[in-house]
Amino acid sequence: MTAPEVKLFNTLTREKEVFVPLTPGQVKMYTCGPTVYNYAHIGNLRSYIFPDLLKKLLAFLGYQVTQIMNFTDVGHLTSDADAGDDKIEKAAAALGKSAWDISKFYAEAFKQDISALNIAFPSRFTYATDYIPQQIDLVKALEDKDLTYANEDGVYYDTAQFSDYGKMAKLDLEGLQEGARIDADGKRNKTDFALWKFSPSDAQRQMEWESPWGKGFPGWHLECTAMIFAELGPTIDIHTGGTDHIPVHHTNEIAQAEGATGQPFVKYWLHGEFLVLDQNQRMGKSEGNFVTLQTLIDAGFSPKAYRYLCLTSHYRHFLTFSQDNLKAASTAYFKLKRTIEHLHAQDDRHPEGAAEYREKILNALCDDLNAPKAVGLIWDLVQNDQVGDAHKLVLIREFDQILSLDLLNFTDYPELLLQIPDEVQSLAQARWEARLAKNWAESDRLRDLIQAAGFQMRDGKDSFELVALDA
Ligand code: AMP
Ligand code: ZN
Repeated sequence: MTAPEVKLFNTLTREKEVFVPLTPGQVKMYTCGPTVYNYAHIGNLRSYIFPDLLKKLLAFLGYQVTQIMNFTDVGHLTSDADAGDDKIEKAAAALGKSAWDISKFYAEAFKQDISALNIAFPSRFTYATDYIPQQIDLVKALEDKDLTYANEDGVYYDTAQFSDYGKMAKLDLEGLQEGARIDADGKRNKTDFALWKFSPSDAQRQMEWESPWGKGFPGWHLECTAMIFAELGPTIDIHTGGTDHIPVHHTNEIAQAEGATGQPFVKYWLHGEFLVLDQNQRMGKSEGNFVTLQTLIDAGFSPKAYRYLCLTSHYRHFLTFSQDNLKAASTAYFKLKRTIEHLHAQDDRHPEGAAEYREKILNALCDDLNAPKAVGLIWDLVQNDQVGDAHKLVLIREFDQILSLDLLNFTDYPELLLQIPDEVQSLAQARWEARLAKNWAESDRLRDLIQAAGFQMRDGKDSFELVALDA
């Protein structure tokens, strides 16, 4: 079978496009990493699962993938309008620690979180503070092209001088500029952004550097572009991030990169949609409603069950997080593993059925990373009597290289699940289905059998819990 085409939804064109790398067989990819002033929340972590799938899919198809992911360890301000505090310096002051220690601590915590989620490390992690000379050089290059101006606050990018400004976000520039020609902050245009901010005169910053314009620190957008140039070159294949990056951060990255080099910056821009809570409320660090991976672990959930939950929704769709959703995902995830555990490795009937599944699963993943469809097909596969179990196991092993759900690891069941006999689990599942079908007589009959075995079902909105009767 020849490898299928990979199609990716490109935010630049708002279309699914066939992926053609700049250099045959090679992929240069950049993933905007976290701002390390706090733990990542599970929404942040969701936005690193789809790049992980993508790079594993491309590697599976034979591409050599170089992925860079940064840590924003300076310069990300509390407001997108280049005002407010530096998030890391603020956290450091609040905790009475050094900014350097804070960023190092949370960068390590992030590495642990993504490891727990089976997100493979990038080819290299880059720290913005390690690339200050490159960032200064980039500002100089922009200065040489007359794209900058200095004011009391720092060196700014003059967005009116870059003709394509806002093209990816389809910004309504006229609407934005109306009545804002000379801004209170001394900006020429409302969309102008800081490349280099001067250190305040009335307070001592912990992180600051000398520059041709004065002592200060880089702007957040500048960091990513400079690290990309340093590590991957002026033009890359793929750049990923969350949808919130489209109107400001990535718009400004394009202006910096293309303004400085005159060459296209990124061929495919991919953006992941938010994890939300009830009423579509975004989970965010500044919203104060955030849940960390450790909170899920403390509540008895496996990080892989969270990964499973993420994979059951497309990366470009909102995913609503709730305890019930996670519980349902966790139940389904361990049930899938149980089913796989009971497959018979000697049953090698019907290899042709397996070949069909292989093609379908791969096609789903190649179609803009349709992981929900791929997971659905895996379920279908394990339950299909027309495919020999041995072939199922080969396919599961193969695709778990991409899905990374540890589908062949049968040693990590939650304790309670281990204590509940398989027959009781099957009865509970059958009762849940009878209940959904409003077959109350059957549901009651099964409930009695479950109770006779010493267990009780607690019904939630979308899922159930099995507990021992004496618990
Ligand atoms: P930050 O650490 O704030 O720079 O964010 C790290 C990544 O998480 C970025 O790619 C954001 O777009 C993404 N992100 C922030 N909030 C959410 C959310 N609720 N759901 C999914 N991704 C998010
Ligand atoms: Zn970035």
